[in-house]
Amino acid sequence: MPDKQSITVSIVWDFDGPIGQINSSYPYNFKKENFETELRNVERLLEIAESRSLKFVFAATGFSAEEGISPVNFPDLIREMATKGHEIASHSWKHEWFPHLREDQIRKSLKRSKLILDKASGFEDAVKGFVPPFSRPMTWLKKGAFSWGDRSAFPLYRGCDIQSLTRIASSSNYRWMRISYNPFWYQIRRKKRDRLSMKPEFVNGVLLLPQDYMGFDKNALETVKRGIDLNRDIVISGHPMALSLSKNEAWKYFIPFMDKLLQFRDQNQVKIDTIENRLHGYKNSAIQ
Ligand SMILES: [Zn+2]
Repeated sequence: MPDKQSITVSIVWDFDGPIGQINSSYPYNFKKENFETELRNVERLLEIAESRSLKFVFAATGFSAEEGISPVNFPDLIREMATKGHEIASHSWKHEWFPHLREDQIRKSLKRSKLILDKASGFEDAVKGFVPPFSRPMTWLKKGAFSWGDRSAFPLYRGCDIQSLTRIASSSNYRWMRISYNPFWYQIRRKKRDRLSMKPEFVNGVLLLPQDYMGFDKNALETVKRGIDLNRDIVISGHPMALSLSKNEAWKYFIPFMDKLLQFRDQNQVKIDTIENRLHGYKNSAIQ
């Protein structure tokens, strides 16, 4: 990790869009209002970011950036975010379940989503990050992590394993990925894992960033405080849609969390920045 005074906290939004909502959270509970709620929350996030000089990472589904019909497609919103200095990452093409995809299907999802999100952003090579839908795969055999949820029919597909996914992401010009995994020895011992013991690292030229916490409750703040103590950068994630739900990603947690984070920023303990802006620092560090 680079030697520095303050750590960087990156806030990554899993911006599912209607296609992502249909393919994940609300497939048979369809409500048009959910699409509108998510977009309204994103607009509010952009206002908050502007008034407090914050930069977020929005990992959006590629299909959402295609020309089409509002609220299903919103290329103009992607352009607005990119123009305001937020980082646009890919959250796949249509929120696929990667463990069940063949290599050629993964490649198509990664390439097409990057192509259209780059185009909507208005910058060449704007998209550098990939945030896997459902945080899958969680299997990383090389690290002794196996998740039953990633299993598929024989033969095992490439999308079943973090290591093989990095190779495809790298050849599709991605530079970072957010990952989540739990090594086998923690599972069998039922030992509580220290989330921050897993450090960011480069694999196949892709910076893999552990998802340090999803949500904005007191655990998110504890994670940031530990990051400050350990001089380790932190990734906190949430869903724009979930800001309007009652769980730990709700507005009532997010606003006080951000207030506290801004206090840390005023004290020069944290920077709140994109991951793209962190890449250079990592490349000059010993991690590689
Ligand atoms: Zn998602």
